[in-house]
Amino acid sequence: MSPTLPEMRTDWALFLDVDGTLLDFAITPEAVEVPPDLIDNLGALRRILGGALALVSGRSIAALDRLFAPLRLPAAGQHGAELRNEVGSEMTGVAPPRHLAAVIARLRDFAANHPGIVVEDKGVSVAVHYRQVPRYRGAVEAAARAAIGTDSTEMEVIPAAMAFDIKPRSADKGQALAWFMRRPPFAGRLPVFIGDDRTDEDGFAAVAAHGREGRAGHAIQVGNRPRAARWHIPAPADLRRWLRDCVMTHASP
Ligand SMILES: [Mg+2]
Repeated sequence: MSPTLPEMRTDWALFLDVDGTLLDFAITPEAVEVPPDLIDNLGALRRILGGALALVSGRSIAALDRLFAPLRLPAAGQHGAELRNEVGSEMTGVAPPRHLAAVIARLRDFAANHPGIVVEDKGVSVAVHYRQVPRYRGAVEAAARAAIGTDSTEMEVIPAAMAFDIKPRSADKGQALAWFMRRPPFAGRLPVFIGDDRTDEDGFAAVAAHGREGRAGHAIQVGNRPRAARWHIPAPADLRRWLRDCVMTHASP
């Protein structure tokens, strides 16, 4: 087990980003691979943690369910714009921004003139991916900012991994964590948030605010450039191994 991570306890509430954290990036969002043993280990961890395990992702919850099928987990999709606590329960969250359709149309026009740019309509938010053509980064950011206008009060552009996300201002991963921590089976547990990029920093900040009995929660960053997060692990494969080891440590004989 990696010495750089805290020892998992069964009283944790575990929040996991997906892309760049649990999964390695692929050339397009659809091309990611989900190792079958990861699905098994997440299901086992959920049982070990009394159900308190949630995915917190920029993807939609529908996309998360497809990726991890047949496993369905509590989840925050689209940076918290979609929230689902119990697996069988309905989704809640924020309404799509009024101008989202117009924004997506502008981005599709931009993509039509910039081959390799992928526009991902997620329902309440939209991502513009430039992983296939990294030299378009600046142009994509400019197009995203122009698409929402300079004074949008309802949407914002945030940098993601080889992409820019446009999401409702009213949703972020920190608010998603707070939402789960008000509800069973998460309430009363020690929050632990694991993520890899700028959009996860709201989650990292939120674990500090939702400590338990004087203990702050844990922020764990995946990647080679640790920032504010206290704990650090180099790559998704290392995190998957650590999760597997946690299952082996805590699984009943
Ligand atoms: Mg990520």
